[in-house]
Amino acid sequence: MTEAKDKPVASTNFLRNIIEADLAADKFAGRCWGGQPGDAASHATGNIDPAKIRTRFPPEPNGYLHIGHAKSICLNFGLARDYNGACHMRFDDTNPEKEEQEYVDAILDTVHWLGFDWRTNDEEYLFHASDYFDFMYRAAEYLITSGNAYVDQQTAEEMRLNRGSLTEGGKPSPWRERSVDENLALFREMRDGKHADGSMILRAKIDMASPNINLRDPAIYRIKHAEHHRSGNKWCIYPMYTYAHPIEDALERITHSICTLEFEDQRPFYDWLLTHLAAGGLLAAPLPHQYEFARLNLTYVITSKRKLKQLVEESHVDGWDDPRMPTLVGLRRRGFTPEALRLFCERTGASKHDSWIDYSTLEGALREDLDEKAPRVMAVLDPLKLKLTNWDHCFTSRTEPCHAPVHPHHPEMGQRRFDLTPELWIEREDFLEEPTKGYHRLYPGNMTRLKYGCVIQCIGCEKDADGNITAVLAEVVPNTKSGTPGADSVKVKGVITWVCSREALKAEVRLYDRLFTEAHPDAGARDFLESLNPHSKRVVTAYLEPSIVSAHAGDSYQFERHGYFVADRKDHTQQNFVFNRTTTLRDTWSK
Ligand code: ATP
Ligand code: MG
Repeated sequence: MTEAKDKPVASTNFLRNIIEADLAADKFAGRCWGGQPGDAASHATGNIDPAKIRTRFPPEPNGYLHIGHAKSICLNFGLARDYNGACHMRFDDTNPEKEEQEYVDAILDTVHWLGFDWRTNDEEYLFHASDYFDFMYRAAEYLITSGNAYVDQQTAEEMRLNRGSLTEGGKPSPWRERSVDENLALFREMRDGKHADGSMILRAKIDMASPNINLRDPAIYRIKHAEHHRSGNKWCIYPMYTYAHPIEDALERITHSICTLEFEDQRPFYDWLLTHLAAGGLLAAPLPHQYEFARLNLTYVITSKRKLKQLVEESHVDGWDDPRMPTLVGLRRRGFTPEALRLFCERTGASKHDSWIDYSTLEGALREDLDEKAPRVMAVLDPLKLKLTNWDHCFTSRTEPCHAPVHPHHPEMGQRRFDLTPELWIEREDFLEEPTKGYHRLYPGNMTRLKYGCVIQCIGCEKDADGNITAVLAEVVPNTKSGTPGADSVKVKGVITWVCSREALKAEVRLYDRLFTEAHPDAGARDFLESLNPHSKRVVTAYLEPSIVSAHAGDSYQFERHGYFVADRKDHTQQNFVFNRTTTLRDTWSK
């Protein structure tokens, strides 16, 4: 595996090349679309498909989507958009036990939030694989009657032993040569609930000696007496994923079925199955084709649904939408924008080889987007009082109005206004009694500029009985106010941010950091919980510049020098300010 750092990747990729070649060769010319998913006969009655290509995003509704899914969403919806096609939103809900409506709703919401829509050409391409159970059953009976499937009664253990290995062929099941009539009768009994879970299974009859284990008579239907969240108790047999998926694609007339590399060895079965069903007249040609790309692996991030679930269930994080989670609901709450995620997916392209993407690539895309859009404000995260002792000698009023651009590169965004007063909040780290080498901020005798304000000279500090510093004392250097003539005549090396203590808005600020301290938290046999970052969340009470007063939940700002922060979607209100740190600034604060 290779590590890719912020490398610009051309937006084109091998999938685009394939699609362009297919379109140039008119591979799908004459392909009909029956108006909805269906078998060969129903599509034959339709018109020429207005969609030049069809792709699909097929999540299993058994959890929340994560950053890896964003990749798949951007790819599938993006290709359909760019080639006048359609992308289907399909719930791959063929497994009755792990799926829930809660996940379905969250997934739809997330895909919309990312900026994609399954409505194209005035048609709504939102489908559920469970709606195809009738067809899948019919296709299974067809395979049986054409001599291509049989009911096996070996135990799971026997089946495992007889499947062989990578170096050794498999052994045929003693039930492999049953008659068509017997197979059909047994399969119907399975459907009718006459047999217990696990007692028999329907297998495709392909080749027990195949070097590809996936072709050694794969299971296609199993008995499962379980209620399904959509089809209820209608079925007690359910199709296996590897059988269901190609059929779903074909019924929906998908042209390019894009999946991750681990399905590469399944492609021969995908083709075997669809070719047989098309030969029997059940499915329309041209058939879909499966293409594999490398899944997204991101350093410092875990994307296994099982492990994410464990983080939530064992309370290592505060729920699926904890801002430290790589779920899309978590990233959203953290302050990631759809634009940043799309940029990231575009930039990392689609590859045929597994690689690791450095987390900084994701943050880079995020900063790029936020830097352009986020209004600036000053914020003090670790407050210490600053008293300007000679105020009355320099200013005639108790408040001195200051202003700054909302955005340094976008004058059209206007100006922020705030007051300079004799008492301010500054960062605790901006004062040292004994300066270290290269320290240019406040220490006795040194001059520093209050950003957008004036130059001050530190004269000392106040302490409590225990010797803790409670306030810094400084004097205003006259005629140095930013924006006034001659303000720059006094040269200083340090600039510090501040907030006027009278106007400051108090806020809870949650300082998030990476959830893991290791780049590859679940590599090898490692227990990923051991590399949990104990400092991934720190909560502070901060003071914010008054121009942020109208912030609404979900609004992003740049806190000057600190990074990007977002008003928390759940907890922020006009009465109770709560901000999440989205990411720090790339550049380090000048000394
Ligand atoms: P599970 O762990 O339950 O198998 P999954 O991550 O494969 O889950 P699905 O809901 O089956 O989740 O995924 C929907 C689609 O998203 C699939 O087409 C899958 O290939 C794709 N996908 C999932 N994870 C990634 C990833 N890390 N990178 C790219 N695509 C992904
Ligand atoms: Mg999956």
